[in-house]
Amino acid sequence: MLGLMQDQPLLISSLIEFAERHHGDAEIVSRRVEGDIHRTTWREVAARSRQVANALEEEQLLFSDRIATLAWNGYRHLELYYGVSGSGRVLHTINPRLHPDQIAWIANHAEDQILCFDLSFLPLVQAVHAKCTTIRKWIALCDADKLPTDSGVPNLVSYEAWMGQRSDVYAWPTFDENSASSMCYTSGTTGNPKAALYSHRSTLLHAYAAALPDVMCISARDSVLPVVPMFHVNAWGIPYSAALVGAKVVFPGPALDGKSVYDLIEAEKVTFAAGVPTVWQMLLGHLQANGLRFSSLKRTVIGGSACPPAMIHAFQELYGVDVLHAWGMTEMSPLGTLCTLKNKHLTQSAEQQTAIRMKQGRAIFGVDMKIVDGSGEELPWDGKAYGDLLVKGPWVVKEYFKGEGGNPLVADAQDRGWFPTGDVATIDADGFLQITDRSKDVIKSGGEWISSIDIENVAVAHPAIAMAACIGVAHPKWDERPIVVVVKKPGAEVSRDELIAFYQGKTAKWQIPDDVVFVEAIPLGATGKILKTRLREQLRDYKLP
Ligand code: ADP
Repeated sequence: MLGLMQDQPLLISSLIEFAERHHGDAEIVSRRVEGDIHRTTWREVAARSRQVANALEEEQLLFSDRIATLAWNGYRHLELYYGVSGSGRVLHTINPRLHPDQIAWIANHAEDQILCFDLSFLPLVQAVHAKCTTIRKWIALCDADKLPTDSGVPNLVSYEAWMGQRSDVYAWPTFDENSASSMCYTSGTTGNPKAALYSHRSTLLHAYAAALPDVMCISARDSVLPVVPMFHVNAWGIPYSAALVGAKVVFPGPALDGKSVYDLIEAEKVTFAAGVPTVWQMLLGHLQANGLRFSSLKRTVIGGSACPPAMIHAFQELYGVDVLHAWGMTEMSPLGTLCTLKNKHLTQSAEQQTAIRMKQGRAIFGVDMKIVDGSGEELPWDGKAYGDLLVKGPWVVKEYFKGEGGNPLVADAQDRGWFPTGDVATIDADGFLQITDRSKDVIKSGGEWISSIDIENVAVAHPAIAMAACIGVAHPKWDERPIVVVVKKPGAEVSRDELIAFYQGKTAKWQIPDDVVFVEAIPLGATGKILKTRLREQLRDYKLP
C-alpha cells in the first residue's frame, strides 16, 4: 500500500518560489566586482532568475544542457543558481583559480554551452575561449555599458542586456527530482578532474539538513555571509539553505582580505559566516592588528581543511564567536559532519568541551559513515582506532560524470555501496569524527602513523607562526619522518630549535618533527588548501639533518 500524500518532486525552483512568497523583502547584499555595494531582495532575485530562465529558452537550450560560471559570490551568480537549475539546465560552477588549461579541459568535458563570468575574469576568458569548443556564447556579468568592446572574445554579451529585457513571467517546469541540477569538478590532484553531478533531490535534502540547529542553524533571523565561494561545492549549500529559511544573505564578491570581510560583517550585521581556515586567518589577523571586535557575529562554520585549535580558541575565547568545525567534500554536496555538543556535554568542564570542539563533529542525518582497516573490516568507535573513512547517503556521489575513473564505490558484507573518502579518521563512542589525515598525506614512521594535521596544529599554536604544513621525508631506518614547513608571522622570530622544543609535551616524542623549514610562502591550491604535492616537489632536494 502506498501512502496517500501528494507526489511533489523536490525541485530547486521551489526554494526560490518559497523565498519570494514568504521572505520577499529579505535582503541580498553583494560587494560587486565594480567595488560598490549592491542591495536587492529575494523577491527581485526570484523575478530576475525567471528572466534568466526566459533568456535560456531563447537560446534553444535543451533540458540538462550545461551553463558554466566563472564568478565570485554575488546576486547575479545567485540568479543563475536558480534560473539555470530551476529551468532544468545544469549549473557548472568553475573554480577560476584553476590553471587555464584545466578550465578549458573541464569546460570541454562538461560540454558547457554558455559561460557567464565576472569582468575580473576577462583575461582568463581571453586565454581560454579559443580552446573551449562547445561554448557558443560568453556572458559578462555586468551592465551593457561596461561590456568591453575590443575583448577579442566572440559572441560576447553583457548579462544585463542578455536577460534584462526578458519577461519575468515564467512557470518553472516540473520534472523528475533526480534530474541533474549542478556540477562541480574536484581539484584532481591526481589524474583528470572528476565531476560530482548533483540532483534536485540531493540538493534539497542537503539544504534541509544544512539548516538544522545542530548543523548550520540558519533561520529567517540570520544575516548570512558565505565567504566560501559559490564555485566551491555551491558555497556549502548556503545559497539553497538561505532561501529555504528566508535568511538575509551577504556576498563578499572578490574582496576576501581581512579588512573587507570585517567591514562587511559589521555593516550588514552578519550573524553567521562560513569559510575555510586560510580566509579566517586573514580576518583574525586584521582584528588582532587593529584591536577590533565583532558586534553581531555569533557563529562561524569552518571547514574544507582542518581548523587549527588556535583558531577555534581565538574565535571562541577572544571574540565570543562559536566555531562549528565541519568536514565534507565535493563528492558529498559537501556536508558530512559538523561539530556541536550534545546535551550530556553541557555539564563538562571547559577543557573537555574544547577537546570535543576540535574534532570535525557528528554525522548529519542523511550521512552514514564508518572506518575500516586495510582489509575492509569495520573498526571500533573508540576514538583511538583509525582507518579509512567510508560514507554513504542521498547526497553522496554514486559515480562521477561520464563514468570518469570507473565505479568509485566499495562494497561491504551487505554489498551496499560505500564511497571511500580518501580520509583517515577516528570515531569516538559518541560518534564524533576526527580526521587524522588524508590517506596520501599521513606519515608512516616505523610502522606507526603520524597525523600531519596534529603536527601542523602545534606549529600554528606558536605565536610566531602564521602557517604550517607537515610532510613526510624518506628516512633509511623509519621509512618516513615528519618535517614541518612554516611561514613566520610578519616581524615575528622563532628559531628551529625553539619550535622543536615547543612540541615537548604536546605530542608523543617520536612524533616530534625532525626538522623545521622556514619559507616565505606555502603553496595553496584552488580552494585555499595547502598543496602538499607542490610543496613536496619544492623540497625535492631537501635532506634530513
Ligand atoms: P578537493 O578534494 O578538490 O580538495 P574538497 O573540498 O572536496 O576539495 O576536499 C575534501 C577534503 O578536504 C576532505 O576529503 C578532507 O580531506 C578535507 N577536509 C575537509 N574538511 C576538513 C576538516 N574540517 N578537517 C580536515 N580535513 C578536511
